Amino acid sequence: MKKPAGMALDLALIYAILGSLWIFLSDALLASIISDPTTLTHYQTYKGWFYVAITSALVFFLIRQALNARAAIEDKLRESERRFREVFENTSDGLFLLDVTEDLRFRIISFNPVEERLVGRSTAEVSGKFIDEIFPDESAQQTIEKYRRCVEVGAVINYEEEIALPAGTSHFYMTLVPVRNENGRIYRIAGIARDITERKQAEKRQMQLAHFDQLTGLPNRALFTDRINYAISMAQRSHSQLAVMFLDLDHFKNINDTLGHRIGDELLIEVTKHLKSAIRDEDTMSRQGGDEFILVLPGIDANGAAHVAEKLLAAVAHAYQIERHEMHITTSIGIAMYPSDAKDFESLYKCVDVAMYRAKKDGRNNYRFFTQEMQLHSARTLQLENALRHAMDRHQLRLHYQPQLSLQDGRIIGAEALLRWQHPEMGEISPAEFIPVAEASGQILQIGEWVLRSAIHQLKSWMDSGMEPMVIAVNISAVQFRHANLPALVTQILEEEKLSPQYLELELTESVAMDDPLAAITVMSNLHERGVRMSIDDFGTGYSSLNYLKRFQVYKLKIDQSFVCDITEDPEDKAIVAAIISMANSLGMQTIAEGVETSGQLAFLRLQGCNEVQGYYFSKPLPVDEFEAYARKMREA
Ligand code: C2E
Ligand code: MG
Ligand code: MG
Repeated sequence: MKKPAGMALDLALIYAILGSLWIFLSDALLASIISDPTTLTHYQTYKGWFYVAITSALVFFLIRQALNARAAIEDKLRESERRFREVFENTSDGLFLLDVTEDLRFRIISFNPVEERLVGRSTAEVSGKFIDEIFPDESAQQTIEKYRRCVEVGAVINYEEEIALPAGTSHFYMTLVPVRNENGRIYRIAGIARDITERKQAEKRQMQLAHFDQLTGLPNRALFTDRINYAISMAQRSHSQLAVMFLDLDHFKNINDTLGHRIGDELLIEVTKHLKSAIRDEDTMSRQGGDEFILVLPGIDANGAAHVAEKLLAAVAHAYQIERHEMHITTSIGIAMYPSDAKDFESLYKCVDVAMYRAKKDGRNNYRFFTQEMQLHSARTLQLENALRHAMDRHQLRLHYQPQLSLQDGRIIGAEALLRWQHPEMGEISPAEFIPVAEASGQILQIGEWVLRSAIHQLKSWMDSGMEPMVIAVNISAVQFRHANLPALVTQILEEEKLSPQYLELELTESVAMDDPLAAITVMSNLHERGVRMSIDDFGTGYSSLNYLKRFQVYKLKIDQSFVCDITEDPEDKAIVAAIISMANSLGMQTIAEGVETSGQLAFLRLQGCNEVQGYYFSKPLPVDEFEAYARKMREA
């Protein structure tokens, strides 16, 4: 499009050319036609007037065109200004305009309303003032550096900035646009501040989700792995040690089950706070899910680790008040040292795991360092685990039976089935050693089912061959007991073997029953309804809660042999055994004492009113044929 001024000039030129041509042609033509001088003079006069008229018209036309052109430019400017104002005032970004002085200072010209709101100052307040006059703090210096850079680079620059504003700290995506004057000097900067606080918060939330435990806010497994790998590489470089600790809260499951997960979660949050107070900033603690925590403590030796472990134990062992519940909790800690125990996270983890289980086994609420002995133990465990895989199909497992006698008439009223494992190279392996291995590896389910079936089958064939009816007691491991299928499996085997359920008694250790009493009540009730008896094995060692005990569908308490052992000498054991018997009586339960080895023990038990006995005094656990001979002899006696 041509500008109006340009068009006016073009028109004027065309006028002039056409006019001159017309005058030239008409002059030459008329001079040849008009011979009369008077007429020629008149013509000359008219021509003069005509010139004046045409020139005036031309001048008038040119002035008019120039005025029009100026008005059009002004209109455009006004439109552009209006549009700029519209954007400046209505954009959701903060906009500001700065003057850049020769000595590189920055004077505010104006803020748009958004910028006014963000900064908490109006344009009227700040206009004409230098940045460092208005924002005298340190952060302003950093901002000024950015403005200087924009001038130095002479191009648009972008950066992210966190700014403490009256309404709180916000995140901005800043754009600085240098503006040059006609000489090319940058005399202004136009700034755009886009508030990206929400986006940043969303990113932070995402980061939080990816790296932190939602409940406690502690680093999660992924972040912990990063941190410990870094700590190990630093320790390797600086030839220093570090400690890894594995914590597991003691009996936390009870709290979760009895008071609910919400209270359990609250407790975990409180415990986390206590634990955090016992460690340094450079230590990393992570929740591994559930009630397990893992820690890495860089630059610390075994002494230091022991000291921290004691602090952690003390930090946890508190009374916690959550809503209206007061509760106590303790923790067990396993510790391993880099580089003496292991050199990578995976191996260190195995060490702390083993050490933590040792701490649990040794009575909980304590810590244990990983030791070589544990290493050997775990090597043996592995060996047993592998050998156990073939034990059943290679017929290395057998059952022995230990008689249980009534104290009333001395008759055999039952037999406990006890598992025996004869390995061709390792020899006879104690169930006390291999049952926990089978439990840990899950093999106990298969083995336990075999034991149940074999014991039931044995009793049935004894009874079929004329032996007096009795009860067969079978030990049930914690893993079997927690398996949902147990009651149905028991019924199924009884039906298959055609034995009435009243002849089966399942022995469950006290610690298993009390570990999860509510679940135990459900399973026991289920078995009770199926007509199967339950007894509590090793009673007296597992901190029974009387409250639960009375709700258990239990037929018999089996007094642990550790109490029976010393009842003739130890007054405390005497008192305990007497108390168990009288308590069982009042709860309507039977009692059987295991590990009876002497007549003195027997006499005491008889005096206290114990119902049944089992032990070497009568017989060791016996293979099938020997048990048959024993039973025959007892009947004949
Ligand atoms: P438990 O059920 O408490 O079995 C009693 C243990 O005491 C048996 O050891 C038995 O041989 C032993 N014992 C019996 N009378 C006496 C005595 O007068 N003096 C002494 N010192 N000991 C006596 P065993 O057979 O080595 O079994 C150890 C543990 O292994 C059992 O303790 C039981 O918890 C577990 N166990 C054995 N067989 C099985 C099984 O088939 N399944 C499961 N889950 N566990 C089993
Ligand atoms: Mg037993
Ligand atoms: Mg026992």
